[in-house]
Amino acid sequence: MNKENHINNNRKINYLRLSITDRCNLRCKYCMPEEGIDYLPHSEILRYEEMIHIVRLSVKRGIRKVRLTGGEPLVRKGCIDFIKQLGKIEGLDEVTLTTNGVLLKKYAADIKAGGVHRINVSLDSLRPDRFFQITGHDCFEQVWEGIQEAERQTFSPIKINVVAIRGVNDDEIADFARLTLEKPYHIRFIEVMPIGGQNSTLDNFIPVEEIHGIIQGLGDLKPIHRRNNLDGPAQRFVLEGGKGEIGMIGAMSSHFCDICNRLRLTAEGHIRSCLFSDHEIDIKTPLREGKGDDSLLELLDRAIEKKDNSQGVLRPGPRKCVRQMSSIGG
Ligand code: SAM
Ligand code: SF4
Repeated sequence: MNKENHINNNRKINYLRLSITDRCNLRCKYCMPEEGIDYLPHSEILRYEEMIHIVRLSVKRGIRKVRLTGGEPLVRKGCIDFIKQLGKIEGLDEVTLTTNGVLLKKYAADIKAGGVHRINVSLDSLRPDRFFQITGHDCFEQVWEGIQEAERQTFSPIKINVVAIRGVNDDEIADFARLTLEKPYHIRFIEVMPIGGQNSTLDNFIPVEEIHGIIQGLGDLKPIHRRNNLDGPAQRFVLEGGKGEIGMIGAMSSHFCDICNRLRLTAEGHIRSCLFSDHEIDIKTPLREGKGDDSLLELLDRAIEKKDNSQGVLRPGPRKCVRQMSSIGG
């Protein structure tokens, strides 16, 4: 029988974010530092079979949902076969994917056939020139076609993650929200976090209250309530007459540590209990040394126990995560 993890507030840690690579084909200004990052040597990145082993163990500890992320997960060779293997793990209810969409047109059918239940596409502008300014690559059309292809492949819902940044795309918040009137997309506005890239100050930060205020001006904005405990921390809304939804994730302004149900496995094989805490547990080394499952399960237990309600982004002090969004996976 699987061991369920009940922590304070009956919170179950049932969601694992798996960063399968630190490589990326875009250079979003808020994610990657301007000077670039040193990629991990290939030998330091978890092999697929190692990830499968760790996911199987984490299912024994109550994980029910795995999200593939990165870097850009679709740039890693063999990711479709890996997705198929994940889909066969007994006890895992959901496999989801977060992608920048650049390779989505090419892979959407395979991703669907591989058993991915839902996808999130990150897209911060609907204007090709601005997309280029934010990401350093002229790929807006490619991403947009990827989203259309995902729709054809009947992914539902398709979530579009928009990092809201003052002076960069705040004038498009209403355009993104209006998209939900025509399309069944779930647009999710995310507060920019002081991690990676050029956002070590909070000057460009837009709180979700402000985003809410802008969207409220477009029509009747009705709240939707959480359905199950695999739902994320987004506050969800629908505009009257809308086909899609609007979500707002106050990663900075709302303290949702007490409902956070996530563990993270970094591309280099470290378990992180909190995005904003540098405490990591190296599971790759003992795995490669041939330690048995009981020892590895102990490490997972320790990571789960390590989750508390007090870490949070605003905790003072220097932190490694400030430069590492692409290897942690968001
Ligand atoms: N490359 C994929 C993508 O962009 O969707 C997956 C990895 S990316 C690190 C995961 C998510 O983190 C994306 O939605 C991205 O917008 C978000 N992200 C990255 N840096 C961020 C930051 N500083 N603040 C808020 N969100 C950030
Ligand atoms: Fe790459 Fe995603 Fe980071 Fe953009 S947000 S640089 S697409 S990892």
